[in-house]
Amino acid sequence: MPLNEIAASLYPWDLADEGIEHILDVLSSRAEVNSAYLVGLMHKEKRPLHARHYPHNPVRRYYVPEDSRVYWAPDPGKYQRIKPLTTEREFLIGRDWLDELTTAARRRGMRTGCEISHTIIDAQYARENLSDVLQRDVYGNIVGAFEAVEAQRALPCLNHPDVQDYLYGLFADVAANHDVDYVQTCLVLFGAGRDDGGTHSFGPTSWQQLLAVATGGCFCAACKAKATEEGLDWDAVVHQVTHLANLSRRIGLEELHERQLLDESNYTESALLVENEAFTAWLQFRKRSVNRLFALVREALAASGRQVEFRYNTYMASPERAGLDFASAFTYVDSVRESDYSDQLGTAEGVATKRAKLMKCRRALREDQQLIAALGVRPNATTQTLTDSVRAAVEAGADGLSLGHYDGATMERLDAVKLGLHRWEGQQRDWQPLTESPAE
Ligand SMILES: [Zn+2]
Repeated sequence: MPLNEIAASLYPWDLADEGIEHILDVLSSRAEVNSAYLVGLMHKEKRPLHARHYPHNPVRRYYVPEDSRVYWAPDPGKYQRIKPLTTEREFLIGRDWLDELTTAARRRGMRTGCEISHTIIDAQYARENLSDVLQRDVYGNIVGAFEAVEAQRALPCLNHPDVQDYLYGLFADVAANHDVDYVQTCLVLFGAGRDDGGTHSFGPTSWQQLLAVATGGCFCAACKAKATEEGLDWDAVVHQVTHLANLSRRIGLEELHERQLLDESNYTESALLVENEAFTAWLQFRKRSVNRLFALVREALAASGRQVEFRYNTYMASPERAGLDFASAFTYVDSVRESDYSDQLGTAEGVATKRAKLMKCRRALREDQQLIAALGVRPNATTQTLTDSVRAAVEAGADGLSLGHYDGATMERLDAVKLGLHRWEGQQRDWQPLTESPAE
């Protein structure tokens, strides 16, 4: 199948600093981009992410965004208890960046989209005003995304009705009030826990990583109520997961001793699952919760009455540790963006990692669902790894590419996208006869 869609993500500050028309000129002429989307709800993350400084921003060297702001003008009628926060930065305030981008992109005949990124609530605001909706670990601590507890991040619980209302509102707002073809999300799902590394010489093994899920989320009151309604023995779950979390964190002398025996044994991931029934039941409960959330998002987009694609954007190497089971959750999506950026390692091994992740997604999708392969057009990707990544996309049965991200891209890497498309015959124009066919 041809790689018909070539998408690129843009941030509001990119648009303000470089100018929308200039950016679209660069992307379409160099990388054949025909689909542009705004990261319309962006988490707290220094930009550019991998390089220290922007390679081509004429205004600033780097940017530190506010936490989880929306960059469109929210429709107050779509929200209930939890409402989106908007930017307070002077150069961004008071403009609907989504409408500005989609208007410009439409004039060029491009597809348009919006991304609701990793986190949807400002962590500090949520800790002060909405602590009851936040994910809790088995010890009762607030669960954050990616970073240590000390970073004071916070994730809302997918099972809390107010969070579900808020998520429904966000997707419904974008779909009903903006000219988008797709809404993409890489929302962080359940906290996946962290293995602290301990004394591993070569990084944690797979069973040690699965054990660390016991330190993740969620054990809030909403989860307890939902799980109990579904027939889970919540006390047994809490009892067993506490023990496993203690093993993972090495809390208690008995637990430390047991962990040391396990570390020096030939224990396996499957043994951990078979041995711990309540833990396994909790993992399945998280999976059902995530599936319900995907169904809710699909419903919110459909309720707009417009044809708006639900595009899921992967964000983890092992999504099942966050409760995401591709095979069942993907029944609700229209397309998946596999967001692997291993081509940025600059090695053949990195490209092989990307290829494997694409194959995993393709296997979980129906024939009518689209697979979009991300390309990391940033350091330390090379022309070689980027063109090889296009080959991986072709071989994995992808339907498009999606560049991550323009802000950190160099022109050489954007050029490599076009080169890769031609080299690996990614589109129908590459499959034409050498001479004109006789007229019929
Ligand atoms: Zn919860």
